[in-house]
Amino acid sequence: MLSKISEIFQSIQGEGPYAGVRQIFVRFFECHMHCTWCDTPDSIGDGKREYQEYSVAQLKKEVRPLIAGCHSVSLTGGEPLLQADFIEQFIPSIKESGLKVYLETSGVLYKDLKKIIRAVDIVAMDLKLPSSTQQRAFWKEHEKFLKIARKKEVFIKAVISSKTQLADIKRSADIIAAVDPKILFILQPNTFDLHNGVLDKCREYHNYCSKRLADVRILPQMHKFLKVR
Ligand code: SF4
Repeated sequence: MLSKISEIFQSIQGEGPYAGVRQIFVRFFECHMHCTWCDTPDSIGDGKREYQEYSVAQLKKEVRPLIAGCHSVSLTGGEPLLQADFIEQFIPSIKESGLKVYLETSGVLYKDLKKIIRAVDIVAMDLKLPSSTQQRAFWKEHEKFLKIARKKEVFIKAVISSKTQLADIKRSADIIAAVDPKILFILQPNTFDLHNGVLDKCREYHNYCSKRLADVRILPQMHKFLKVR
């Protein structure tokens, strides 16, 4: 079995509660979403983009020299769960190396998550707000996904842009509160749309969500400020 991979590198995690840890990033090619702010357009797979094919043994060989000092391997994208069957075969080699398995995902493909959740340590799940993405809503999928993800450590991130609507934040808080109000919810200001209007929205949404959820934080993408991948 071969995977399609855009890039493999070591860097610093820039989002969420693990910001600052060193990770090996395995960026899987292709995504089923088309978020307006996508910061990895080379990996979304519009027919023109570049990728390399790797077998499990080849990927293991690429990852091995990068292990020293790392906390975990981030399976990212694109949408890594589009290649869940390959990931299932690759994960044992991450475990052998002593690193944790950190999955970064759009939080939609719950059937694929089910295949690998047993071996994942941390799920960094997005909630795709339709007013932010300008795409259709995925509420049902997000709900099913979160119910599976909470079997492991999970936190949730939603990107806040100038187009984001409070109604989407309310729906997000409903979904999280119904599964577990203690799950961390991160409001991430859109790096490409960062101005006072967006920060004011973040404050307003933080006030609303904090009444329903135990841990709500406003966190930017740190790696963008550090100018690292
Ligand atoms: S889910 Fe992630 S990789 Fe896919 S289009 Fe959206 S931002 Fe880009």
